Amino acid sequence: AKGEGRGVHRFFEAWMATAVQARRTVELDLRAALAEPQFELHFQPFLALGNNRISGFEALVRWRHPTRGLVAPSEFIPVAEETAMIVTLGEWVLREACREAARWPDHIGISVNLSPVQFRSAALALTVVAALGEAGLDPRRLELEITEGVLLQDSEATLAILHQLKRLGVRIAMDDFGTGYSSLGYLRAFPFDKIKIDRSFIADLAVRPDAVAIVRAITSLGASLGMTTTAEGVETPEQLAQLRHAGCTEVQGYLISRPRPAAELLPLLSGAEVP
Ligand code: C2E
Ligand code: CA
Ligand code: CA
Ligand code: CA
Repeated sequence: AKGEGRGVHRFFEAWMATAVQARRTVELDLRAALAEPQFELHFQPFLALGNNRISGFEALVRWRHPTRGLVAPSEFIPVAEETAMIVTLGEWVLREACREAARWPDHIGISVNLSPVQFRSAALALTVVAALGEAGLDPRRLELEITEGVLLQDSEATLAILHQLKRLGVRIAMDDFGTGYSSLGYLRAFPFDKIKIDRSFIADLAVRPDAVAIVRAITSLGASLGMTTTAEGVETPEQLAQLRHAGCTEVQGYLISRPRPAAELLPLLSGAEVP
């Protein structure tokens, strides 16, 4: 048994060494990717349920890796966050997203995800102003999505940053709502324009009656606070029907469209009703 333990230990060490090496490789590759840059944005639409038209798009970053192909954000955003490369990457995303949105019809908005690290970086407001100015984009068309992770730290400083961003005229959305702690308290304390109901609740709609009750509660809370409510991860017509019934303002998900490259958005930009 003793020999066996040593074997397991050796195996674990080897596994650790491989994991550390892999992480290091991602980090080095990421530095090169930022210099080029090897990133691109895909855009996923929001469907407004009031008029069945596309009201905006969320920008989602992808990494066009020279040998690995298209890499998903879950593989590199965490590494970028640990190394502060996320600030540079986030700045690129903001500028690129605003530049693209400036080519769309005026009523179509653009939403950009902000990492908590980027949110705390001193230059955030300046970066936002520069991205808007460069693109010639009306600030009211830009929405910044933040998660509860942003709100966990020093809430006075957070509130000051949020108000600073609001003064620029941009909108603020609470992303992945319902997955963190004390969500209700945050809604009262911070000036959000939109609540994005986390996709785990939407996935549960068909199987758990309490998910329906939760979605209804969030929707009516949002309405009474003057906030838009967007359901994420809508994949079936049944979910869409339930969300309409619950009074949700907007939906987003594979049922409407997967995230697509900018060149493939034309059919969604026409302003026509979506069936
Ligand atoms: P998120 O902000 O919650 O984005 C939604 C994710 O759900 C996206 O994954 C999207 O492709 C996926 N999704 C959309 N509709 C459906 C659906 O109907 N079903 C399912 N199963 N999934 C759906 P993606 O693009 O892989 O992004 C993952 C996360 O990476 C994002 O979650 C966001 O937290 C982060 N991320 C993406 N782009 C950026 C960025 O530019 N900056 C920062 N800081 N984070 C980003
Ligand atoms: Ca998001
Ligand atoms: Ca989300
Ligand atoms: Ca998420």
